[in-house]
Amino acid sequence: MEKSIFQRVIDREIPSSIAFENEDYIAIHDINPQAPVHLLVIPKKLSTRLDEIMDPLELGQLYAVAVEVAKAHLTDYMLVTNVGAGAGQTVFHTHIHILGGWETPPKVLGAH
Ligand code: AMP
Repeated sequence: MEKSIFQRVIDREIPSSIAFENEDYIAIHDINPQAPVHLLVIPKKLSTRLDEIMDPLELGQLYAVAVEVAKAHLTDYMLVTNVGAGAGQTVFHTHIHILGGWETPPKVLGAH
């Protein structure tokens, strides 16, 4: 299977702006930011999409890291995960988007 773009980031085959890294996770600044602050939290263990992670502990750890990274950069933020091409996923290596830093929050689904 061809390496995902994020696997190539993890393996330092392509450059990225790293915001956080430990043994199991890396967080990078999105190359095409959709918000003043736009980070991606990526588990190093490959799964192609979030619902492939069956272990609740692993899912919880991923969200705990996302919150830790988000809080290091932002007070208020959105965590977004596109699951599947039909929902806008373009990189098939699980990741959570951290978005924030707006003066006025964007209108999104669920907002009133
Ligand atoms: P998604 O569409 O949810 O799969 O999100 C993939 C995200 O990865 C997009 O927001 C892209 O801008 C971002 N992206 C793609 N390649 C890179 C890269 N080399 N470095 C940082 N972000 C990237």
